[in-house]
Amino acid sequence: MKNTDKSYQQDTNAIRGGYQMTHENEHSEALFLTSSYVFDSAEMAAQSFSDEIQGNVYSRYTNPTVRSFEQRLAMLEEAERAVATSSGMAATLAVIMALLESGDHIVCSRDVFGSTRVMMDKYITKFGVEVSYVPLVNLSAWQNAVKANTKMFFCETPSNPLSEIADLEGLSQIAKKANSLLVVDNCFCTPVLQQPLKWGADIVVHSATKYIDGQGRALGGAVVGSAELMDQVLGFLRAAGPTMSPFNAWIFLKGLETLSLRMKAHSANASALALWLSQHPKVSKVFFAGLPDHPGHSLAKKQQSDFGAVVSFVVDGGRDAAWRVIDATQMLSLTANLGDAKTTIVHPATTTHGRLSPEALQEAGIQQGLIRIAVGLEDLEDIKNDIELGLSQL
Ligand SMILES: *Cc1c(COP(=O)(O)O)cnc(C)c1O
Repeated sequence: MKNTDKSYQQDTNAIRGGYQMTHENEHSEALFLTSSYVFDSAEMAAQSFSDEIQGNVYSRYTNPTVRSFEQRLAMLEEAERAVATSSGMAATLAVIMALLESGDHIVCSRDVFGSTRVMMDKYITKFGVEVSYVPLVNLSAWQNAVKANTKMFFCETPSNPLSEIADLEGLSQIAKKANSLLVVDNCFCTPVLQQPLKWGADIVVHSATKYIDGQGRALGGAVVGSAELMDQVLGFLRAAGPTMSPFNAWIFLKGLETLSLRMKAHSANASALALWLSQHPKVSKVFFAGLPDHPGHSLAKKQQSDFGAVVSFVVDGGRDAAWRVIDATQMLSLTANLGDAKTTIVHPATTTHGRLSPEALQEAGIQQGLIRIAVGLEDLEDIKNDIELGLSQL
């Protein structure tokens, strides 16, 4: 049998990492659809249940296909370990449930995924964990929000939908001094474009539902970090159950194989589209960290190998104008999803950020005329032409 433990370049690890061929000599990774496993003897069963020997016991916390996905993702993030979860939200929930307790305090970026905010406000606080929100890019606001009971910093970079960039090194220094863990949602970049652990983050969370799948088929997530922290996260999954299904793990395992190529193609399309939009007479402003006049441009260049594929722009005329543009497009999918080969278009103020009050929207800088594009992999000319159909309505 060939040696499968050897480590290669990242693009090779994404294709060959984390998999041990079974005795069937399959070339494509096997899918283990089994909830439980059998033991050779009663003694082995007892040793497996008490963790004296490592082995498969029950797929709530041990499954070979899920493990392969975890190992491959950990290699790409250059982390000790990854733990797969049933969704991106389950990843964030597992981190908080495993590592915090009643009386602890989280400092969280104001600009996080909508459900992250709802989870914190409606459920996490219910169990006596406090949450404060600060603007992502304002380091002194993070510093000032620290209290004696602060245990965790949580952020997402680049932010959605304005492409703001967190200074991860700066944040990690403040977090370390405050004895707090820095948790970064790396869904928009994936490890291909950004490895937050390199900049001092302690934990990375992913929604695999987005770019890791890349074709909008399955829900999943992951937590990545040190073996010590991941042991605790897996302990929560083992007890509570929001585990990744083996079938979804198999889809994501195959998704990782093309992730690097796709992220580069997504980013190239997005950079070209952002430039075109920035020169368009009907567009008053473009938010994309790849543009040199974006306030996060130099930080993005430092932390990321490319700029990702979420581009937002503003049209004059507020909500009605934005809706007219969106409704006149023919090819783009009108959906809040992102990370798909298909380009999507959405009006953040009335969908992804629709639960925010008018004041909160203004504070977050989300205008009524703002439109968000998650740039896919179609031919750039077709994407431009479709947006032009919309803009020609104005
Ligand atoms: C979609 C998303 C999530 C949640 O992931 P699910 O897999 O839908 O639960 C979390 N963070 C970001 C940035 C996302 O885009």
